Amino acid sequence: MHPALAADLDQLPALLEETRQRAVAFLAGLDGPVIPQQADRPTPAQPLHEDAEGLRAALAEFGERWQPRLSASAGPRYFGFVTGGATPAALAGDWLTSAADQNSNSSLDPAGQHLERETVGWLRELFGLSPAHSGTFVSGATMSNTVGLAVAREWLGERLGVDVAEDGVAALGRVRVLSGSAHSSVSKALSVLGLGRRALTTVPTLPGREAVDVAALEGALAEAGGPCIVVANAGTVNTVDFDDLRAIAGLRERYDFWLHVDAAFGAFAALSPEHAELTAGLDLADSLCVDLHKWLNVPYDSAVQFTRRRDLQAKVFQNAAAYLGPIGEHPDLVHLTPENSHRLRALAAWFTLRAYGRAGHREIVERCVTGARALGEAVDTTDGLRLLAPVRLNVVCFTLAADPTPERLAALAAELSDEAFLTPTRYAGRPALRAAFSNWRTTDRDVRRTAAALADAVRKLASNRPATDSTSASRP
Ligand SMILES: *Cc1c(COP(=O)(O)O)cnc(C)c1O
Repeated sequence: MHPALAADLDQLPALLEETRQRAVAFLAGLDGPVIPQQADRPTPAQPLHEDAEGLRAALAEFGERWQPRLSASAGPRYFGFVTGGATPAALAGDWLTSAADQNSNSSLDPAGQHLERETVGWLRELFGLSPAHSGTFVSGATMSNTVGLAVAREWLGERLGVDVAEDGVAALGRVRVLSGSAHSSVSKALSVLGLGRRALTTVPTLPGREAVDVAALEGALAEAGGPCIVVANAGTVNTVDFDDLRAIAGLRERYDFWLHVDAAFGAFAALSPEHAELTAGLDLADSLCVDLHKWLNVPYDSAVQFTRRRDLQAKVFQNAAAYLGPIGEHPDLVHLTPENSHRLRALAAWFTLRAYGRAGHREIVERCVTGARALGEAVDTTDGLRLLAPVRLNVVCFTLAADPTPERLAALAAELSDEAFLTPTRYAGRPALRAAFSNWRTTDRDVRRTAAALADAVRKLASNRPATDSTSASRP
């Protein structure tokens, strides 16, 4: 063994203790600037080290060059994208995942698979899914959508009497995928799966909404004239709108389609009695995507793909090899996703669900919704800002009342970046900003800080405008 490895092995408990202290210090810094100043000043890439200097040298260099540049994305005022943090139990579970370093994919060494199955069962209960749904862990909602649509592709083959897994996607001919406000990852999945981005047909949504117009969807299904795929959306990223899942599923009486539901973070509405109705019909999905690194607050990367047709899933992803044994009734995980080897990804979710249960996770969801509402009200009463959609759940989508160009919105976001991080979007043809609440640490104090910082930033932006153009004229 190289002396540096031997020395590190010798001192492992002390080195892990130093690593723990570094983690604690990092977490303590989450209340500081959300995007550190150094983030914009890259540290020049260094050449590979020839010498072995051991973990202590790596810790020191990381602490000096990289750690100060990392954002507080795990913290309470990082409202960009839809970003979760890590609950204490999830973080502990993630640490232990690396310590145990399991490749939990086969019944030849089965404990990890059993743990994943128990965790999937807990998640099924959390979201009100029946045991007809089997679930597998994947790295994120994009991968979950990809796996769900791969199963849908196999189902299309079954309907048309061809075997896509064996003969390839060309055997299907033209495929139609219908959706109202599909997430960008759906197009990416269609490209990966050989169905092509152009397979996606955007169906009109209800007036002023991101939810699909079910009558328009029925028209599109009638026009398609054969089996197709419908992607329903349960929680859109701009306005957290929900398709009417029960009405869509009801169309299956007259039309032949696979129903895939993208509920990446919207599924968590099921935890709040006040909002659970939004997810009614989730269980009717043929395949379903739920992200865990968002609102469950487990560390990246983690999501689950549920489906009612595990048989088709195993047809797509089977990895037959002499050393793996037969596929059988309960396929090993190696036969169910694009990954063969993967870490014991379920453990972080297992820990947070075991530690906080339904009640703890319900509290996180409800506190996020309360926070989003409060920030929405603050935006609505701040001169110079305009709310673009009602706060339906956990996202506030707004813009500048005057001259809302992408450049001015970027300047507003940059002005804020010590206090809060928001990301740009376009909604209803207008450049906008979004604040998404999904971190377990966010409290009403963070909402007040963010609202105050926003009001300051708007004032600053207004005072920096050239005198020739008048802000007040464009206010209603
Ligand atoms: C975040 C999100 C995705 C993609 O998720 P990743 O975890 O980034 O792969 C897909 N759909 C919806 C609705 C999302 O919010």
